[in-house]
Amino acid sequence: MSVIEIEMGPARESHECDCCGTVIESTHGYIYRDNDAYAVYEASWCEGHAEAQVNARIEIGGDWGDETSRPNHAFFGVLIFRTSTHNGFSMLEPEESQWISPDSEKDFLTREAALAHPLKSEIFHIAEHVAKEEGRIKAFLDAHPIAS
Ligand SMILES: [Zn+2]
Repeated sequence: MSVIEIEMGPARESHECDCCGTVIESTHGYIYRDNDAYAVYEASWCEGHAEAQVNARIEIGGDWGDETSRPNHAFFGVLIFRTSTHNGFSMLEPEESQWISPDSEKDFLTREAALAHPLKSEIFHIAEHVAKEEGRIKAFLDAHPIAS
């Protein structure tokens, strides 16, 4: 069984939320599988929203050598949330993602394509590690469970 590890990236500046005027926090980092670079995550959440929902993007692909061209990379939009009993995960449409960007647009999967993708369960597995082990995300989820 492969070992998934997370390395948090440097802290980022927060910015104001368009919808409620409080603070949007974001974080990013790297996923290693058996010590090899495997995936990258980006995630953001609004501190002012009552319910814990983290809007994440997981980028996965074969070759991480060249920052500018990443052939065969795929981008998944994943919503991470916390109920009173568990972490939940669902795939997002690209237009629901906070992390659509010019470099990801072409390879950002629709929800339907993500759910049919051979790496779907691997993406959910990575998201579980992020929810449990990414300190900033875990702290937010812990503090804002969704009533269920
Ligand atoms: Zn807000």
